Amino acid sequence: MIVMKEGATEEEIAHVIERVEQVGCSAHVSKGELLTVIGAIGDRDKDQQLSLEGTPGVDHIVPIAKPYKLASRQFKDGADSVLEIGGRKVGGANFALMAGPCTVENRDQMLASAKSVAEAGATMLRGGAYKPRTSPYSFQGLGREGLRLLAEAKEETGLPIVTELLDLRDLDDVLDVADVIQIGARNMQNYSLLAEIGKSGRPALLKRGLSATVEELLMASEYILKEGNENVMLCERGIRTYETAYRFTLDLLAVPALKEQTHLPVIVDPSHAPGRRDWVESMSLAAVAAGADGIIVEVHNDPDKAICDAAQQVPTSDFRALSSKVESIAAVVGKTVSRA
Ligand code: PEP
Ligand code: MN
Repeated sequence: MIVMKEGATEEEIAHVIERVEQVGCSAHVSKGELLTVIGAIGDRDKDQQLSLEGTPGVDHIVPIAKPYKLASRQFKDGADSVLEIGGRKVGGANFALMAGPCTVENRDQMLASAKSVAEAGATMLRGGAYKPRTSPYSFQGLGREGLRLLAEAKEETGLPIVTELLDLRDLDDVLDVADVIQIGARNMQNYSLLAEIGKSGRPALLKRGLSATVEELLMASEYILKEGNENVMLCERGIRTYETAYRFTLDLLAVPALKEQTHLPVIVDPSHAPGRRDWVESMSLAAVAAGADGIIVEVHNDPDKAICDAAQQVPTSDFRALSSKVESIAAVVGKTVSRA
């Protein structure tokens, strides 16, 4: 990582980029308010041919020994990345409240749920059109029709859409609607999918795999960042442990652990680990207190009739209380729910 001097000229920056590319590395430029940082990504022996110390405009060089580079906090000189999605900010002091049903089921369900979460203060709307179901015989999502209903819900509420991409063949359709592409836990290590989302440049919500370590999640995010897409959020959603008293073990320590290592915003999904709605609010508040930059909660207008994840979806009538408590805890930890 090449840290340029405060006030380094455009010419000096261009010269460093040229040198980086000459030795066969790729240059990832990050311009902060004061400093420009250039990441030279390539083989270690190529990096070593660079010897840029003393080059005009170069302040110092920081070797990043980690197996991920662009995701590392060092790469942003310790600062937090702040993403902007449909006028809402995520990261730093900005908190995102993403809510909506597990899956898009039909027009009435989607629009009723969307309007309620918007009125109750959600900042983004979730809903899956392509569902990664454990059994191939379970409902797989409405597909394109689901995307169409999400577009309608966005039109009605103005909320940016978070929706999952399962298969690269659906990328263009998903790009037509999604403000944030969700990469589900089961696809965290689908590297070709990650690279294509990287190339698309669209903001991504990368969920932690069921059995992935924090470091594996960071390395997966690097596959997106490496393609030039800086708009990545990481998401803790619960991992597999020996515990069977609930669906997954929500690993809230992943929040401070990730935030120590990365500048990327960290989101928590408080719904899939409990697997039942009466535990969702406390996990939401705990996530905010743990330092998360946002939560993504499953909310449904009539959860008992939901096609999937019925037990864990919070009814829209309860979401307002959850939302206002989240807002209070966010204020305690110095964050504001970011609305357009
Ligand atoms: C979901 O968000 O509905 C979902 C399927 O999540 P995960 O990939 O974390 O299981
Ligand atoms: Mn779900």
